[in-house]
Amino acid sequence: MDNCLFCRIIKGEIPSAKVYEDEYVYAFKDIHPVTPVHVLVVPKVHIDSLETLNDENIENVIHIHRGIKKVAEITGINKDGYRVIVNCGKGAGQTVFHLHYHVIGGTKLSEKII
Ligand code: AMP
Ligand code: ZN
Repeated sequence: MDNCLFCRIIKGEIPSAKVYEDEYVYAFKDIHPVTPVHVLVVPKVHIDSLETLNDENIENVIHIHRGIKKVAEITGINKDGYRVIVNCGKGAGQTVFHLHYHVIGGTKLSEKII
């Protein structure tokens, strides 16, 4: 996906503040953080959204969740707690159509999701 922003970030064509990387996932700081820690965890293969997960690519979810735990440990937010958000589709506010998990924390989060 030549024109995908996050594919280009993964390839290093667009700079990013890397937090964690392994064979399957790349994690970097969100450019407009909503909390002191706000990291995006993305699969290295292009997947549009949760809606395009299928039998062939579903195992990326395991790798993403492993990456999220690494990010929480690296940033220290695993101690007090953190929230993971996936916007799926335009109606939910998804603006970048490369599957990404927002990992937010580093402050007291509201008790309600919205
Ligand atoms: P969403 O609205 O769920 O699609 O989230 C997209 C996120 O990508 C937003 O929180 C943006 O702030 C973030 N974002 C957009 N461009 C960049 C970039 N170049 N580097 C890091 N984060 C970005
Ligand atoms: Zn992509």
